[in-house]
Amino acid sequence: MATKNGEIIDANHALLEILGSPSIEATKAINVLKFPPLVQNSYADKFNQCVKGGITIEFEMDYKSKWEKKTTLHSFLVPLKDIEGNVSNVYTLIEDITERKRSERIQNIIFKISNAVNATENLEQLISFTRHELGKIIDTSNFYLALYDEQTNSLSLPFFKDSFDNFDSFPAEKTITHYVIKQQKSLLADTKVIRALLDSGEVGRFGTDCLIWLGVPLKVNERIIGVLAVQSYTDEHAFAESDQKMLEFISDQISVAIYRKKAEEDLKEAKEKAEESDRLKSAFLANMSHEIRTPMNGILGFSDLLKQPGLSGEERRTFIDVIERAGQRMLSIINDIVDISKIESGQMSAVYSKVNINDQLNFIFDFFKTESSKKGIELQMNLALSNDEATIFVDGDKLYAVLMNLTKNASKYTRHGRIEIGYSLKEPSKEFLEFYVKDTGIGIKNERQDAIFERFIQADINDKMALQGAGLGLAISKAFVEMMGGKIGVESDFGKGSTFYFTIPYQQVKA
Ligand code: ADP
Repeated sequence: MATKNGEIIDANHALLEILGSPSIEATKAINVLKFPPLVQNSYADKFNQCVKGGITIEFEMDYKSKWEKKTTLHSFLVPLKDIEGNVSNVYTLIEDITERKRSERIQNIIFKISNAVNATENLEQLISFTRHELGKIIDTSNFYLALYDEQTNSLSLPFFKDSFDNFDSFPAEKTITHYVIKQQKSLLADTKVIRALLDSGEVGRFGTDCLIWLGVPLKVNERIIGVLAVQSYTDEHAFAESDQKMLEFISDQISVAIYRKKAEEDLKEAKEKAEESDRLKSAFLANMSHEIRTPMNGILGFSDLLKQPGLSGEERRTFIDVIERAGQRMLSIINDIVDISKIESGQMSAVYSKVNINDQLNFIFDFFKTESSKKGIELQMNLALSNDEATIFVDGDKLYAVLMNLTKNASKYTRHGRIEIGYSLKEPSKEFLEFYVKDTGIGIKNERQDAIFERFIQADINDKMALQGAGLGLAISKAFVEMMGGKIGVESDFGKGSTFYFTIPYQQVKA
């Protein structure tokens, strides 16, 4: 019971329990108008409504007491009136409904997540939604959901939200996540438990150290499909055993939802892959038949012409020249096809030897110099390292093939202006060399800049000036660069020019 000014006149032991208060005296020392609410409207507002309106008020609220006890309360505030009809005191009935509310919330969350399987577009969205919902009852600022692939023993992270780390996928072995999968049960690990796991060798160090980690397995038909984990880098008490139990319960319920969405996504991906490979096959056949027929027709046609009697020596030489060029073109297409099949069947890998990259670039520069100056295109070269520093361990044939291909493309797609080839040492780590081929040619539209690195793709299939090519060069270059441990990319302004660049590790051979 409290006066209309909020002073507590009397309280029972049940209230002490709810507030976490040590004594009746301590409880009486607080004023209900100063009750700090956790969320929703303040207790004081409700109290004043009761006093001013003289009516009974019923409400629920999340509340944190002076003694730091967090509860959800259901309250009745009943006004007690004096003879004149004015409210003098307020009789308060408070019930602790924390547990009931919590389980209602949990049920509600599970219901919403199960429903979201149909409402979300992909797995990432579903997991993001799951995180959002779980965030209502547990701190999910650092949250991830790892899916386990038994075959490759790896974990993939379709969704990861963390203040420190960011991964897409990682090998499962020796991770705390894998430990949960192996043990088939959840784990709440504070720094002591983590240390013990590290010391025992069960878990190797991985990611940024956290103060507390909580992970629960996701099971479908007794098979573990992944792990849902939360962690905190700032509060070692962020999660307790009750959270572990709750997360276990929720994960049991939502595993099927996640599994269904994943299966749906896998199926979609497989279908898209099959369609894509079908499309590529058709593109390949159409392209190949054109690419092989053109030089073949040249060879047959001009061979026929050669048979004519009375040809001059000059005519003969011209015809033979055409046949030779057509033959070269056929050979280069066949080489490309062989290369791409070897790459795709995994029969190709990098073969390292000592190579002087300045020599390679000088050779390419000389090779294109005459052709460029004939077309009126300025050819420039930029070598960043001295000849001594330019001897490195690399797959020389592959590096040469990539540089040759990029320069050939630059020359093919540039009518006037400039082509520059060169490389630099990537700062600040100096661990990678970055090669580039820059041109002032036709450029590539933004939306095609990723596609051109795929097999059989040309930036503009309908381009009437359709320059010869099977659309394999960049796909092969990309595969080669990746085999050497680098990355390839392009920056291009449509109509103005392109810069193709790629990196490779700088493994200098010291003289
Ligand atoms: P292709 O044999 O057709 O040249 P590539 O794989 O080497 O095959 O290149 C794919 C496509 O990328 C080309 O067809 C062309 O449309 C585009 N491309 C490549 N290099 C350049 C460049 N330097 N400038 C403009 N477009 C380019």
